Amino acid sequence: MNKFPRPKVVVSKCIEFASCRYNGSKIASPIVLQLQNYVDFIPVCPEVEIGLGIPREAVRLVMTNSEIKLLNSSDSENYSTAMQDFSDNFLKTQKKINGFILKSRSPSCGIKEVKLYPGIGRVQAISSKSKGIFGNAVLDKFGYLPVEDEGRLTNLHLREQFLTKLYTFTDFEHLTENMAELVNFHAKNKYLFMSYNQAKLKLAGKIVANHDKLSTSLVFYQYRQILYQIFNNSSRISSNINVLLHILGYFSKQLSGKEKAYFLDQLETYRNKQIPLVVLTAILQSWVLRFDQKYLLQQTYFEPFPRELMHITDSGKGRIIK
Ligand code: SF4
Repeated sequence: MNKFPRPKVVVSKCIEFASCRYNGSKIASPIVLQLQNYVDFIPVCPEVEIGLGIPREAVRLVMTNSEIKLLNSSDSENYSTAMQDFSDNFLKTQKKINGFILKSRSPSCGIKEVKLYPGIGRVQAISSKSKGIFGNAVLDKFGYLPVEDEGRLTNLHLREQFLTKLYTFTDFEHLTENMAELVNFHAKNKYLFMSYNQAKLKLAGKIVANHDKLSTSLVFYQYRQILYQIFNNSSRISSNINVLLHILGYFSKQLSGKEKAYFLDQLETYRNKQIPLVVLTAILQSWVLRFDQKYLLQQTYFEPFPRELMHITDSGKGRIIK
């Protein structure tokens, strides 16, 4: 079983940590609550940090003269510069951060679907596709890390992708600059990487092989860049089927015809999006244990993040399974 280092995650403080929203409320998030046992959270409330009280007038994003500003919704006081300065300074001081969970749709913390207004008062939003000022600064500086909002994390697929990226990156950052550790890291992540991006997996393999005899620090630098690229896109059903068939190949001589037929039947059900991936990986994992397949036993593909965080509850919102 894998041992998982604790990631450092910046979280919007109003999600489970403090009643600091404009109306003095707090946001409930079962996933953030549960993650507290597995993650070192750094809670921050940018609006309180720039001096706004609790409770306070709500702020909103307003488009004026082709510029997006963060304004008090009742008297137009402009907080844009204060919020931008706070965001830049705060993010500059954060070291060894592994990810972010930010409040959805907030004009400060939101990373997408934030409403943009033509002015203050009772007016209709002109768009709901903006980013909050702090959220935008996070994406600018740390967009290669896992960054999600608590709303999207209620979706099973998005949550699994977020946790997979979070724990894989954290594991990598805990390696010492040692080639043997990198070789081991690459080997145990082979099938996980294959499920995300087969071409980049090959490139990562070439970097680890280091035929050009580069310095260890340069190899680590290059590997880190590829690692980020591997997780640029989410894993697809077709790539997972490819990985599942690769792994099935290890047992082709040991399984009965009926066992293989059953697995392939389940594979089709997965292809048709009628069952989650975990059904297939659980079957394969039972064979890995039964046949004591040592190489596969260490594969993170079966458990890319702590088992306790694997829930199949799904809001159905924001589904992007491909
Ligand atoms: S969304 Fe961000 S700025 Fe607003 S209350 Fe929550 S933590 Fe504070």
